[in-house]
Amino acid sequence: MIYFDNASTTKPCEKSVRYLNEYLTDKFFNASSIYRQGIENKNQINLCKKMIAKKLGINFKDNIIFTGSATEANNIAIQGSLRKNFGKLLFSEGEHPSVYNTALALKNKGFNVEFVKLNINGTVDIDDFKNKLTPDTSFVSIMHVNNETGAINNLDYLVDLKNKICPNAIFHSDGVQAFGKIEYTLNSNIDLYTISAHKIYGPKGVGALYSKNKSKLNPIIFGGGQEYNIRSGTENVANINGFMGAVEEIDYACYDYIKDIKRYIIDNLNSGFKVNGELEKTSPYILSLSFKSINGETLVHMLEQENILISRGSACSGSKIGNRILSAMQLDTQSVVGSIRLSFSKFNTIEEAKIVTQKLNEFSIKLKNL
Ligand code: PLP
Repeated sequence: MIYFDNASTTKPCEKSVRYLNEYLTDKFFNASSIYRQGIENKNQINLCKKMIAKKLGINFKDNIIFTGSATEANNIAIQGSLRKNFGKLLFSEGEHPSVYNTALALKNKGFNVEFVKLNINGTVDIDDFKNKLTPDTSFVSIMHVNNETGAINNLDYLVDLKNKICPNAIFHSDGVQAFGKIEYTLNSNIDLYTISAHKIYGPKGVGALYSKNKSKLNPIIFGGGQEYNIRSGTENVANINGFMGAVEEIDYACYDYIKDIKRYIIDNLNSGFKVNGELEKTSPYILSLSFKSINGETLVHMLEQENILISRGSACSGSKIGNRILSAMQLDTQSVVGSIRLSFSKFNTIEEAKIVTQKLNEFSIKLKNL
């Protein structure tokens, strides 16, 4: 099998599985228990926080809140920040559904929610961002790397702009497709940053929210007060350790290797396709392509017959409802229909890229001649 759908999820690495197993079996204890085994597990969770904090380039483990997913972390970041008399909330049109649909739900409730347009390369339109940032803005959420196209937003620049116009507004970023893949030290002006384990060779069902100032966050569910009273629920010690195993294995050296895989495919595809996004400004891990006069969904299933797994786009956006992100980038309907997403991991090889490219060439000719 060739697996080129790593933006959807990655295969857990050996170390992650080992840590996960250890804490699912021998060390299954509740981290909030007051006997030795519980205290040891709590200490272990703190160690995991330290490791993540270090990778983000921050000093304090207590800025890391573990959650059950990045979806949950995004919801806590947004809904947990709401206050009485909250001003405008600003989101990009490129956000993942866990942010975008939360924004829509708030809009339906009567909050002042606006969306910033995307450029044709998939990044945030800076002029539109400047226009929509107003002194009454209370909250800004702009993702770091887009999960459909790999477009990279320049967070340092965006947060600087935000600070010029509304310095007190909270700045959140969904860093799920960036963390562990693109080397980045968290800007000290970013208030909230979301990450997920299963995109970086860790287990599904665990995410984390970095929060610069936890006193500005309210819980959105209520319970036993775990995770600083912000995210109640018995700590998932096994998943958290599986997350740490993946974080310990982060190796930015594979960035260039993955870039070569992406470059090989683009350089060796026949004509009749275009890359969605600007190659040099996208993550090497994600390649969004549009084929002329071809249905991307058909292409996905033809490749599946060859044991090659790719995607139509985000598993969450679904083929039946088109592609919100590509449409926001002003792609015409034909290009949206003809779009596919290939996404890579450190486990992929150039040999695999060769096979997939050859099959894409073969099938795209076949489909055009139908
Ligand atoms: N944000 C982005 C950019 C994603 O790609 C994903 C994963 O699909 C998520 C959030 C949600 O992550 P999780 O599956 O941990 O809820």
